[in-house]
Amino acid sequence: MERVIGIDLGTTNSCVAVIENGEPVVLRNSEGGRTTPSVVAFGSDGDRYVGEVAKRQALTNPRNTVTSIKRFMGRKYDEVRREAELVPFAVRADLLGRAIVELDGREVAPQEISAMILQKMKQTAEDALGCDVARAVITVPAYFNDAQRQATKDAGRIAGLQVLRILNEPTAAALAYGLGRRRDARIAVYDLGGGTFDVSLLQIGEGVFEVLATSGDSHLGGDDFDERVIQWLIGEFHRLQGIDLREDRMAVQRLKEAAEKAKCDLSFSQSALITIPFITVARDGPVHLNMSLSQARLEQLVDDLIERTRLPCEEALAAAGLAPKDIDEVILVGGQTRMPAVQRLVNRIFGVPIHRGVNPDEVVAIGAAIQGGVLAGEVDRLVLVDVIPHSLGVETEGGLCTCLIERNTTIPAQKSEIFTTARDGQDRVEIRVLQGERPLASDNKLIGHFQLTGIRPAPRGVPQVEVTFDLDANGILNVSAKDLSTGKEQAIRIEYASGLSEEELTRMEDEADRFAREARTRKARLEARNEAERVAFDARKVLGASENSLSPAYRESLLRGVGRIEAALASGDLLEIREATEELRSLREQIGG
Ligand code: AMP
Repeated sequence: MERVIGIDLGTTNSCVAVIENGEPVVLRNSEGGRTTPSVVAFGSDGDRYVGEVAKRQALTNPRNTVTSIKRFMGRKYDEVRREAELVPFAVRADLLGRAIVELDGREVAPQEISAMILQKMKQTAEDALGCDVARAVITVPAYFNDAQRQATKDAGRIAGLQVLRILNEPTAAALAYGLGRRRDARIAVYDLGGGTFDVSLLQIGEGVFEVLATSGDSHLGGDDFDERVIQWLIGEFHRLQGIDLREDRMAVQRLKEAAEKAKCDLSFSQSALITIPFITVARDGPVHLNMSLSQARLEQLVDDLIERTRLPCEEALAAAGLAPKDIDEVILVGGQTRMPAVQRLVNRIFGVPIHRGVNPDEVVAIGAAIQGGVLAGEVDRLVLVDVIPHSLGVETEGGLCTCLIERNTTIPAQKSEIFTTARDGQDRVEIRVLQGERPLASDNKLIGHFQLTGIRPAPRGVPQVEVTFDLDANGILNVSAKDLSTGKEQAIRIEYASGLSEEELTRMEDEADRFAREARTRKARLEARNEAERVAFDARKVLGASENSLSPAYRESLLRGVGRIEAALASGDLLEIREATEELRSLREQIGG
């Protein structure tokens, strides 16, 4: 049976895991890390960098280095205007109003950037397992809407992965926590990562994982905490030095790194020193930044952000019909939950112990691998019942939103509704699909629209078209329609307001594939050149050191071999480089020198 990998595609870091001998294991990337920074950079050499290398060069290449792309996935530009202004790379609206990134003068969709991260995770798994990997389970925040889920699935496709399931992150964490446990428990998963906040309540026991309710905030995460520290640093620096660092992109990038580091350090210490030498140059020379931030001050700076997680927790409890005392244990997920003030709030809300047995950075990927194992038939006796985070409806007369499937409904779910015409002889009806809880259509998110065409001309109100909304196990909506008078079925494709067309997807898939092949070729070429240089160096060393002990014929052959390699390297002919290397290597082995 072919392996299915589990990928946690995080805002800040990503992680990949797989089931080996019945146990989930986290796989190390080529740099040795168990997690990979979700950072992509376009280098001036035309090359692309992903992960640690991309993060390392961010300082000197901030315009072409993309971080936290997850915040822009499946979004219209208008929805992320504020976030777009905060990042050092250029995010703008394309002709359809979708949020896109401009890199190296090129428009790149957030799905393509996420695909590059997924390709790196795929490669990590292939290197570790020593075989091709084509199938994956990818996690998303439970609070992701339909368009964001679809965008994540599309990113997987661009990366050459068949995405078997889009799994909610808190549900994945619960799977990792609950696997192998015998006792029944009702748990809360509190997940505060780099860019999103999710809370899910689950009933688990005897291999059944049932999500009771979920809620969250897809605009809240550790990045917002960093931003508060950056603003504080900018304000203090201005007060002390009279210099405004806001317009200096390089300085802001360095502030961002320093702010995040100080924030993380303050989870374990009472105060942190923030030192950035040569942050800027004033009239009388370079200026350095030296400040100290206390844990208490940090807590004041982000107090309202932490407080914002309370309402979703209360909403989830209300939706599940539970009181805090009904929860047995809370699992913390996401790096930001390491902050003591966050843990104190969780304690105040639920008043129950916090489970400390899981690694918040890896637990989601482990859960995804378990789900992958279930789908591949490697893990059995496990039933997962999940819910949708937002209500789904359609726009009806007078700009109202008619709800078809309520939030927290168990998925998969199906609901049918009869539609008719508003005018005599009308042969088509436009249906606008909305996601959200508000009564007015315009207050909810328009996730897409489609047209029912070919309706037989008839007086208004007579035609009857049955539209079926089918929510799959990924929480993604599929729509079908049937004209009840003719019995004719109609296949409907939702045109996502912020998604990619089939044509765009195919093009991106081809490009990603071509780029991956080119990158492999470049790597092979580099390895061949290095090997050739190594063999030539070794031969030159022998020629120099044992001048008199070599037979003139052998000496002559070595010199010829080195010459051939030098010529091959100069020509750049890969085949010739390899052959010349092989020839000289076997010459060296023959004599045993
Ligand atoms: P995740 O999306 O789960 O990888 O979470 C990443 C977020 O967690 C980032 O905003 C990090 O700055 C934050 N984070 C990681 N470690 C810590 C820590 N020790 N204290 C506070 N926040 C942290």
